[in-house]
Amino acid sequence: MISASCHCGSLRLEVDAPPSEVTECNCSICRRYGVLWAYYPPHQVRMLPPDPPTDVYMWNGRSIEFHRCRNCGCVSHWAARRRRNRMGVNVRLMPPEILAGARVRHRYGADTNRYTD
Ligand SMILES: [Zn+2]
Repeated sequence: MISASCHCGSLRLEVDAPPSEVTECNCSICRRYGVLWAYYPPHQVRMLPPDPPTDVYMWNGRSIEFHRCRNCGCVSHWAARRRRNRMGVNVRLMPPEILAGARVRHRYGADTNRYTD
């Protein structure tokens, strides 16, 4: 079990398997947040507490919610409002060795939405 938690510990996201790949995206929001995403079907991610204390920022036609801890400000995950088959978990909130064991892929979200590798 892999646990991602914000800095103050107010919220935690748990997944059963470590990500084999993480995505570094250069779109206008991801590059500012400095996040690395691992994608999971939402039913594979347990949130503790189930309704975590987050603030939400919406953009991109209000289709994706970017969540951050209300207390410490760490960006924890994104959730899609319409296409709900996957969500993004910020791997920066996981233990460093999880990131060290994953392949980092670069996504050109600023333009083509393609991976550069
Ligand atoms: Zn926090």
